[in-house]
Order: sequence, then structure tokens, then C-alpha cells
Amino acid sequence: MIVMKFGGTSVEDAASIERVTEIIKARVALRPCIVVSAMGKTTSRLLQAAQASAAGDARTTLGIVADLKARHASEARQLIKSNWSAFDFIEQYFAELKKLLEGLAILGEVPPRGLDKILAYGELLSSAIVSDALDERGIASQLVDARKLLITDDRFGGASPLFDIANAKIVATLAPLIAENRVPVLQGFIGATREGATTTLGFEGSDYTAAIIGAAMDADDIQIWKDVSGLMTTDPRLYKAARTVKACSFAEAAALTYFGAKVLHPKAIYPAARKNIPVHIYNSKLPQATGTAISATAPLCKNAIKSIAFLRPVTILKATIETISEEEQIFLPEDSLKTIINTMIKRRVTPLLTAVSGLNTAFVMDAKALDETTERDLLNDIAKFTSASVERDRAIITLVGAGLAQNARISGRVFNALEAVEVNAVLHGSSPIMMNVVIAAQDVEAVIARLHEAFFADFDREVFE
Ligand code: ADP
Ligand code: ASP
Ligand code: MG
Repeated sequence: MIVMKFGGTSVEDAASIERVTEIIKARVALRPCIVVSAMGKTTSRLLQAAQASAAGDARTTLGIVADLKARHASEARQLIKSNWSAFDFIEQYFAELKKLLEGLAILGEVPPRGLDKILAYGELLSSAIVSDALDERGIASQLVDARKLLITDDRFGGASPLFDIANAKIVATLAPLIAENRVPVLQGFIGATREGATTTLGFEGSDYTAAIIGAAMDADDIQIWKDVSGLMTTDPRLYKAARTVKACSFAEAAALTYFGAKVLHPKAIYPAARKNIPVHIYNSKLPQATGTAISATAPLCKNAIKSIAFLRPVTILKATIETISEEEQIFLPEDSLKTIINTMIKRRVTPLLTAVSGLNTAFVMDAKALDETTERDLLNDIAKFTSASVERDRAIITLVGAGLAQNARISGRVFNALEAVEVNAVLHGSSPIMMNVVIAAQDVEAVIARLHEAFFADFDREVFE
């Protein structure tokens, strides 16, 4: 069997869902299980509705709900003529949603548990519509409630699957359906605790659902259908001339997604890699395009670099360890380094990059992880034995490719491309397949363009497209 996951843009309207049903129809023989995201921007609209309701803004809340309901009903009407269960679901779900939102108005806040319940309606609605649309086109589907299978812990807003329980339930529910040649359709992003409270896996979590289902079912393939033709040499939204990378390894994809490539949820790699199941990324708007194959060992390509990711904004904390304080107290550098790291762990700040060079240390972290209070506390904690400073509005550019390990001339080409750019830090060598460069956030576009020129401009198109 295979898993096919369709993201928000792939199911954003009736025309897109029509295309999705054709893509599925052409692959019915592969016995697919379908995972869908919410339609278009539904999740963020639901979030806005929840926040508005808690803030006492009933007008905005009701406006969003009415708009979402009209849109879902109208797209569904264009797709579904004879089978009506999706319309019952639309009525039922919006009635429930309204009640939950009224509850938030009374509470005056958005508790994470309540928010997960509300956000889940995006996927519940889209999956009901896709399932009916398949049935109407002669593909026998079965709508499955992911909350009955994907059992998670109770960290609302970012729950983790309890794999022992979830895997058994996934197989027990989906295997019989697939054996009967039915096409299961289930919601990405959502799950439930053992007690049945709705949870979500975190924003953009539908890719992760697809990987969890694929790994549990020992799928032959996990297909992630997006609005881009696979994993590309860089984010095509930022650099138009980006090209499709035909093949890459799990390790390369993990590095890219960890350092910001939004093409895949970072957690989606691990379940697939553990079971050695290939992940393909395809374009639902261009289904015949090659796309990207991600597998355990991707062939080395002529180019040392496969893709360039960026992450912004990030913040740099620089701390120089003092060996003797103004009061002439002596500090051992190794104790000081340990204290800096322990302090960060205590304050729940996990650095994305760490560089230690003699008595100088630099930590690069997600800007959100270091808000003003945490920054002040952290600097206070280490003030006695360091002189420390913080630089905001930075970005990490990450060049990824297994060829980096073999190619000695890479650094020179990178530094050439960085000429005239203020570089805050370079990390090369701690990972054999990537190199990180920290620059000002505003330089990202120019630097990516120059690096892309340097590494991909005269590159043999065959390997990539
Ligand atoms: P979906 O919601 O369908 O799951 P997303 O919109 O979340 O898909 O992710 C796809 C987006 O990821 C693309 O539109 C693209 O702008 C962005 N992206 C970032 N880096 C890359 C990359 N290296 N290759 C392809 N897309 C990328
Ligand atoms: N609908 C969810 C979100 O927008 C999950 C997803 O699309 O992957 O974050
Ligand atoms: Mg998305």
C-alpha cells in the first residue's frame, strides 16, 4: 500500500480537489491511504476566530465562521451531487464550532486544549468532502476519524504519538479497509489522547501524520503532494530559478527541514527513515512532473550541494568567558562553559548552532526562543564570569549535500559568494553534509541568489529535473 498526503493548497477549492481525485484514481491499484490537510488557509482562520472570540470580538468571530461555512459548502456543492454525508458533516461541525467559540468568549482566553479541538475542524471538514468526492467518482472510500487511531500524549498544540498504542490501532483499522480495496481518507495534523481529547501535532503537522501512518502500515511509498514540484534547490518563493532536486537522502532532507526548508515537516523524515520507506514529494498541480525521491541512500550528484535552506529570524548570543572576575575570583573555563549550557537548558533555550573557540562562545537560536525576559535572565545568570552580548535579526543559511564531505573546494566558493556580505559565523565540519552561515536577516535574498548562481547556474539539468 502507499500513503498519499495532500496539503492545504492541494485541496484549497473544488478544482483542486477534482485534480486530487484524478491523481488518486490513477493510483488506486497501489492501494492508497489518503491523508488530507485543511482546505487552504482554514487552520489560520480558525485560530483567528478563537482569538477574536476570547477577546470578546463576536463580530469578527461570527464573520470568520460564516465565511468558512459558506466556502466549504460552496466548494462541496461543486464537487458532490448525489452523496450527501459531507453536507451533514458541514452542518454538524459548524454548529459544534460555534458552541466551542462561544465557550471561549465566556472564558476570555484560549486554552491549548480548547484550541486543538477547534483547529481540528479544518481537517474534519476537508476529509469529509474529499471522501464524498471520491465516492461520487466511483472510488470506494472510507472516511476514518484519525482521533480514533493516532493516540498521542496530552501536550496540546504539539502532541507526540504514543507509538505503541497508535501503531496497533492504525493497522487494526486501516489494514482491513485496504484488504477490501477501499480507500481510507483521514485527517492529517490531528489525534487524540487515550481519554479521547482532541490533540494536534503542531502546525504543518499533516506531513508527520502521513509518515506515521506509512511507517505503521509498512507502506511501499509515502507520497507528499504539494504546490511545488518536489524539494527544490532553494525555496522557489524566494528565488524563482530554483530547480527540482530529483533525489536526496533522509539525512539531507532532515538537515534541510531542520534548518528551515518548509517543504516538509521536520518530524516527517524520522518514521520513514526508521522503516526505510521512500518519501516522494510531488506537485498536485503538475502530477506528471518527476518530483523528489527521498530515500536512505540517494546517489551522489555531480554537484556537492543539493539545496540551500534559510531560517530567520534567529538571534546570536555571544559570550566570552572571563578567567578572573573584577573581584579577582578565578573561573575555570570548563566550569564556565558547563554553566552557560546548563543555564540555557534550565531556561529551555535550545541552540540551533553552537560554536566554541577558545574562550569565545556563540549560540544561535530561534528568535522566538529568546524573548526579552529570557534574554535578561540568561544574561544575568552568566554575567559574573562572561562578557556577553545578543545580536538579533540574523538568519542561518544552510548548504546541504553529501558531496560536501568530499569536495575540498566548497568553502572557497561559498566565501566568494559571500563577498561584501557581513558574516556573523560559519560552521563547517561538525556535520559532513552541511555548512551553516549566519548573516543579517535582510541579506537572505541576495545571499541565496549569489550562492544559487555559484552552485547551480551551470549545472547539468539532467541530474535535477
Ligand atoms: P502544504 O501546505 O501543501 O503541505 P506547504 O505550503 O506547507 O505545503 O509547503 C510547501 C512550500 O514550501 C512551498 O510553497 C515553498 O515555498 C516552500 N519551500 C521552502 N523551501 C523549499 C524547498 N527547498 N523546496 C520546495 N519548497 C520549499
Ligand atoms: N492544517 C494544519 C496547518 O495548517 C496542518 C497542515 O496543513 O499540515 O498547520
Ligand atoms: Mg501547509
